[in-house]
Amino acid sequence: MASPSTLPYLIVGAGPCGLIAARALKRKGIPFEVVERHTRVGGIWDIDNPGSPMYETCHFITSKLNGGFLDYPMPEHYPTYPSWSQVLDYIEDMARDHGLMEQIRFGVSVTKAEPTSSRPDATWSVESHDGYLGEYAGVIYAAGQQWAPYAPDFDDMDTFTGRLIHSSEYRSPSEFTGKRVLVVGAGNSGVDIAVDAAEYGSAAVLSTRRPYYFLPKQIFGVPTPDLMVGKVSFPHVPQVSQRINPYQVIDLVLATVGPLEAYGLETPSWPLGATQPIVSDTVLHHFTHGTLTHRPNVKRFTERGVIFDDDSREDFDVVVLATGFDISIPWLDDDVVPPRDGHPDFHLGTFAEKYSTLYGIGVLHPSRADAWSLFDQLTQIVVADIQARESGINVDGVSRLRTQYFPNLKGDFPFVDTRRNINQADTLELDAMLTTLRVTYGLEIPASHQHGFYSSTRQTEVMSA
Ligand SMILES: Cc1cc2nc3c(=O)[nH]c(=O)nc-3n(C[C@H](O)[C@H](O)[C@H](O)COP(=O)(O)OP(=O)(O)OC[C@H]3O[C@@H](n4cnc5c(N)ncnc54)[C@H](O)[C@@H]3O)c2cc1C
Repeated sequence: MASPSTLPYLIVGAGPCGLIAARALKRKGIPFEVVERHTRVGGIWDIDNPGSPMYETCHFITSKLNGGFLDYPMPEHYPTYPSWSQVLDYIEDMARDHGLMEQIRFGVSVTKAEPTSSRPDATWSVESHDGYLGEYAGVIYAAGQQWAPYAPDFDDMDTFTGRLIHSSEYRSPSEFTGKRVLVVGAGNSGVDIAVDAAEYGSAAVLSTRRPYYFLPKQIFGVPTPDLMVGKVSFPHVPQVSQRINPYQVIDLVLATVGPLEAYGLETPSWPLGATQPIVSDTVLHHFTHGTLTHRPNVKRFTERGVIFDDDSREDFDVVVLATGFDISIPWLDDDVVPPRDGHPDFHLGTFAEKYSTLYGIGVLHPSRADAWSLFDQLTQIVVADIQARESGINVDGVSRLRTQYFPNLKGDFPFVDTRRNINQADTLELDAMLTTLRVTYGLEIPASHQHGFYSSTRQTEVMSA
């Protein structure tokens, strides 16, 4: 067994989070390799990555102002909500501009990672689809959250003779031409797919088992998600005070949509954010035009369609289960990071409790518009931990962080008890955690809009200097 400090760290996956991790390790000169089973960077944003849940009509739900990488703004000519292919190009540009491409081995799928001893700081022995890959000082999981489709087991589902797919199999609205389509589940993909069904199908129905909030993508001339989390300042709105507080902003945005009963829906009894809000300009348009209708949960399937909870019955040609994903890490033994209802638990969204040399990036569901920046900020915990172990930097702070700091990242926010919410974290709690990491534990955590944090790793700037 080699000494840890002579070994590189292995980052599994070259989607946005794998690149975030690679750039952060590169910035501190920590040796690493990235392996990616596909032939390109980009993760789910590459529609050709086998198993990707991407579809032709998908656009970023978070705006280009806040949704991209930390210290790497999306191009100015991009629209506010870029298409998936624009997001993919941007991800690839980020990797090239930071010289990360050379450190990625494509076409390598990790199939097994095992600690080489029972010590918490064990090195890792890793296998890939074509044999032994190597021994690594540590492993960083960056293999995503949307590769293991979750589907409820509805009664008599196997008797349905139409086309039954999970949303991850859906690619193009042309699949709906002339078809009666039922979409089950109103996550953001479910709603996009329901809109495609409304525009291309002969009939479109969206079934949900609970009410959701629906928000426009843009309000008062600014992106709604950014306005609601205070990432853009409140614009001038006649009759509304500029001193409006964040809670009043939320009330005002919801008031512009009005009671959801006007669209044949139900208004949730819980606060905004307790389930994931739907951000779409077109779904309410289709409800008001009657090109999309809402039904309650599916009670059971029939040969030709479904019976809903209110005992109404309808026939469909296609049923799309937009019912979400679990996070699956098939290449780790279950007891290494025990999954809770399909969601492995990483302390502070990064540390595996049992082994200090195993980390996860992109394993939380943050309730915020700048998730990729947050994942970068959390990656700084990994960097600090590695530096403490390998170089003795801030050993005391990092060791107290591991052993004494267990914040409740949900806070007392009343998240609804859903499978997706298991690893949901509250924005205010995350902000408080980032402050504590800086102030109490001495970690270098950039602000989400910090310019220049990665200038030392940017090849383009180095070359032009
Ligand atoms: C339809 C849809 C829309 C979304 N819209 C937004 C949005 O607007 N804003 C936002 O912030 N988030 C959005 N998301 C969330 C999305 O997960 C993130 O944007 C982002 O892609 C997460 O990056 P990641 O690197 O963690 O995972 P991924 O993008 O899933 O990348 C993981 C990579 O790991 C590779 N991999 C997996 N297993 C292995 C293995 N065993 N060996 C080697 N490589 C492996 C995969 O091939 C993939 O390239 C959306 C998700 C979906 C499904």
